[in-house]
Amino acid sequence: MNTLRLHNTRTRKKEVFIPIDPKNVRMYVCGPTVYDRAHLGNARPVVVFDLLFRLLRHAYGEEHVKYVRNFTDVDDKINAKAAESGREISDITGETTQWFLEDMAELGALDPNAMPKATEYVDEMILIIEDLIAGGHAYEASDHVLFRVRSFDGYGRLSGRSLNDMIAGARVEVAPFKEDPLDFVLWKPSSADLPGWDSPWGRGRPGWHIECSAMSRELLGETFDIHGGGNDLMFPHHENEIAQSMCAHPGSGFANYWVHNEMLQVEGKKMAKSAGNFFTVRDLLDKGHPGEVIRYVFLATHYRKPMDWTALKAEQARRTLEKWYEQASRANGRGVPCNAVVEALFDDLNSSRAIGELHRLSRQDDIFRLRHSLQFLGLMRDGVPSWVHSVDAEANSLLAMQEKMANLRSMALKSKDYSKIDRLKSLLVSAGVEVRMDKSGVKLLPGPGCDSAKLREVERELH
Ligand code: AMP
Ligand code: ZN
Repeated sequence: MNTLRLHNTRTRKKEVFIPIDPKNVRMYVCGPTVYDRAHLGNARPVVVFDLLFRLLRHAYGEEHVKYVRNFTDVDDKINAKAAESGREISDITGETTQWFLEDMAELGALDPNAMPKATEYVDEMILIIEDLIAGGHAYEASDHVLFRVRSFDGYGRLSGRSLNDMIAGARVEVAPFKEDPLDFVLWKPSSADLPGWDSPWGRGRPGWHIECSAMSRELLGETFDIHGGGNDLMFPHHENEIAQSMCAHPGSGFANYWVHNEMLQVEGKKMAKSAGNFFTVRDLLDKGHPGEVIRYVFLATHYRKPMDWTALKAEQARRTLEKWYEQASRANGRGVPCNAVVEALFDDLNSSRAIGELHRLSRQDDIFRLRHSLQFLGLMRDGVPSWVHSVDAEANSLLAMQEKMANLRSMALKSKDYSKIDRLKSLLVSAGVEVRMDKSGVKLLPGPGCDSAKLREVERELH
C-alpha cells in the first residue's frame, strides 16, 4: 500500500502517518462560527480536509474513518448580529448553518460523520473546566474562569512562539482580573439578555476555545489522530485547545498530527470578514461559477501555499473541466482512481500534482482512469454536471444576441438614433463581454470575468 505522509505542524516535518487504530482513524477540524454566509476563505479548509477525508477513506475503508467538524453557535459576534438585527439567535444560527451546508455541498464536500454544535456540549465543557480548576490549571476571578497558561509547560510549542512573544502580540487581551495577561477565558458571565447556562460560577457562557476540547473528547476520545484548521487558528485557538485538553487529561496526547491550511488571500492579504475584503461562496455561485470550478481552483494550489482567487484561473478551470467531462462521459462502469493521482495525494495532499496527472490522462485519452480520478477528487458526481450543457446553451444565446445587436445596429445607422444600441452595449460591457462593432457586423466576446446572471438580464432586454 502507498504510504501517507502529512506535514505535521507540531514537529514541522513531513511525517509518515500512522493512525492509533487503523480500524478507527479519527480527525477533528475546527468549523465555522455561524453568523453569516461563508466567505471563500472559509471554504478552503472545507475543501482541503474533505480531500484528506476522501483519501483516508480510500486508504482505511469508509467505515474506519471518523471525521468531526463543529459549528460554533455561541459567540459574541452572533450575539452582536442578533442585537443589531432584532432577530432571534437560533434563527440566525439555524439559517447560517443551513447555508453553510448547502454552499459546501456545491463544492463537492462530503458531510463529516459528525457536526456537533457547541451549544449542545455546554455540560461537557463545564465538566472539563471543573477538572482544570481542581488540577490548579484554572481559577475563578470576577465571575469569570480563566486558564492559567503558566501552569502548562508546553504552551507555545505548536506555533513555535515564546511566552514573551505572545505577550507582546496584540491578540492577548489584558484584563484587570487576570493573574497573567496570557491567561484566557474558559467561562464568562452572561447578563439576562444574553445566552447563558447555569454553572458552578453563576449563569454564563463558555469562552471560544473550550468547545473544541469538549467536543473532540466526547466524539473522538482524549487522544486522536489528526487535528485540522486554518493556520490563522494556530495561535491562540489551537495552543489553547492543547493546553486545556492536556491539562484536563494528564498523560493523553490530544492530537498526534496537526494539519494547517494556508490562507486564501486578496491582493496579498488574508481574506477576512473583519478586513472587509471578502466575497462569499454564494456570490461566486450566483455569478455562474459552478462549484466544480471553484473546487478545481482550490485543488490547483497546494494547501500549504497562500493562494488568490482570480477570474482567469476560474475561466481556465472551466475550460479544462468541460474538456475532461466530455472525455469522462464516454467512460462507463465501475473503476478505481489512477494510482499516480492517489500517490500524489499521499505525498502531503499534493493536489496540484494530482491535477497534473489528470491533464496527462486527458492527453492520453485514458477516459476510464480520468473519470474515476475526477470522482475520487470530488470533481465529478454520477454524471456530467448540468452546467456543462448550459455552456452550450450560453454560447447559443450569445450567437442569438449577436444577431439581434447587429439588427439593432443597422436600424440605428439608418435612424441615427443610437441610444438603444449604446445602452445595450454598456450593459454587455458591464456583464464582462467585449463588444466589437464594424462593417462586418457585431461580435460578442465574453471575457474571463463574464457574469452569466447579468448576461441573462441583457438577453431579456433584447427580447
Ligand atoms: P472562522 O469562522 O473565522 O472561525 O473560520 C472558519 C475556518 O475558516 C477556520 O478553519 C479558519 O482557519 C478558516 N479561514 C478563515 N479565513 C480564511 C482564509 N482567508 N483562508 C483560508 N482559511 C480561512
Ligand atoms: Zn477549534
